[in-house]
Amino acid sequence: MKELFDVTIIGGGPAGLYSAFYSGLRGMKTKILEAQPSLGGKVTLYPEKMIWDAGGQPPVTGAVFAKQLVEQALTFNPAVVLNRKVDFLEKDGNNQFVITTDDGSKHHSKSVILANGGGIITPKRLEIEGASRFEGNNLHYRMPSLKSLHNKVVMISGGGNAAIDWAVELVDIAEKVILVCRKGEAGAHEAQVEKLENSNAVILRNTVIRSLEGAGSHLDEAVLENVWTGEISKERVHHVLVHHGYHQDNSLDTSDNLPMERTEDGFYSGDAQGCTSQEGIFAAGDNISYEGKVNLLVGAFQDAVNAVNSAKNHIDPSAAATALVSSHNEQFDERNKQMIREMLGTV
Ligand SMILES: Cc1cc2nc3c(=O)[nH]c(=O)nc-3n(C[C@H](O)[C@H](O)[C@H](O)COP(=O)(O)OP(=O)(O)OC[C@H]3O[C@@H](n4cnc5c(N)ncnc54)[C@H](O)[C@@H]3O)c2cc1C
Repeated sequence: MKELFDVTIIGGGPAGLYSAFYSGLRGMKTKILEAQPSLGGKVTLYPEKMIWDAGGQPPVTGAVFAKQLVEQALTFNPAVVLNRKVDFLEKDGNNQFVITTDDGSKHHSKSVILANGGGIITPKRLEIEGASRFEGNNLHYRMPSLKSLHNKVVMISGGGNAAIDWAVELVDIAEKVILVCRKGEAGAHEAQVEKLENSNAVILRNTVIRSLEGAGSHLDEAVLENVWTGEISKERVHHVLVHHGYHQDNSLDTSDNLPMERTEDGFYSGDAQGCTSQEGIFAAGDNISYEGKVNLLVGAFQDAVNAVNSAKNHIDPSAAATALVSSHNEQFDERNKQMIREMLGTV
C-alpha cells in the first residue's frame, strides 16, 4: 500500500538535513531521499577541513559537522532512504507528488523540498586497472584523517586547488609530500603554488600515475610516467590521495506539466520563501537562486526553515506561518525534562 508523506526532501546535505529537523518540529511526516550511501552532502567531501563560519559553532571539522547535522536531522525520526537517486518527479490525479527513484520505486508526498545541491557529486577515479582494490585502505578520493597521514609518505595526484591546498597543508604533517601533476603548470591559486614550490615537497610535473603496486588491498608503490619524455619511475608511498575533480549528476527531471524555471546557471529560480515556479515544490540550499541568497551553510539553514514553513502552509493553509522558537516549543517539553533528569542524575 502506498504511504503518503507530508513532505519529501530530495537530498540529504545540510539543506535537506536541516529541513528534516525543521519539518519534524512542525509536526510533518517527513522522508529524505539521498543518492549517496550516507548523509551529509558536500560536507562529506571535506571531512578534515575546518568550518569557521557556521553561526554559534566553534571551528569544527567537516566530519564532525556532518555527524552533528545528521544527529539533529534524526530528532523527529524522519524516514531516510539512502542509495536512491531521484530520477523523476510528477503529480498524480489527486494533486499529490509521485517521486520515482532509480530502482523504479515510487514515493508519494503532499509536498516536495528540492535540496539536491548541485546534483550528485562523486570524485573522479584513477583510470588504472586494479586500483579499486586499494580504495578504502590507502588510496583515497576523500581526505582521510590528518592523523593517519602523520609522518607518512603521501603522494597527491592532481593540479587543481584541492590538490595544491592539501599538499601545502600536509608539508608540515607528512614525512614527505610528492605532488604528481599531469600538466606543466598547476591550475591553482598562485600564492598556494608558490608556497608549495618554496617548501620541501617534491613536485613532479608532466607526470601521471601509471600503476599502483602492493600486496592485497595495501598499496606501497606508485609507478609514474613522465608524459613528455616517456620516462618511467617508481616511488615508495604510504598513501595516495587523488584530487582529479568531480562528476556531477544533476539529471533529476520533472514531467512536462511540472516545468521548473531555472536561471542561466541552472539554479532553480525561486524566492526567499523557498517557493519555486511550481506550487507544492520548494527548494533550499545550493540549488536555489533569489535576490539576497547567501551561498553558505548558514544560508542553507535559513532556506530550509523557509521552505518547510512554505510546505507546511501548502498542505495546511490554516497552519501558523512559522513555528514557535524551540525554547517555547512544546515539542521539546519531554526531551527537556529528560535532559534535566540526566543533568541532576535522577534518571
Ligand atoms: C570544499 C568545500 C568547502 C566548503 N566550506 C564551507 C565552509 O567553510 N563554510 C560554509 O558555509 N560553506 C562551505 N562550503 C559550502 C557548503 O558545503 C554548501 O553550501 C552546502 O553543502 C550546501 O548544502 P546543500 O544541502 O544545499 O547541498 P549539498 O551539500 O550539495 O547536498 C545535496 C545532496 O543532495 C543529493 N542529491 C543530489 N541529487 C540527488 C538526486 N537526484 N537524488 C537523490 N539525492 C540527490 C546529493 O547526493 C547530496 O547529498 C564548502 C563547499 C566545498 C565544496
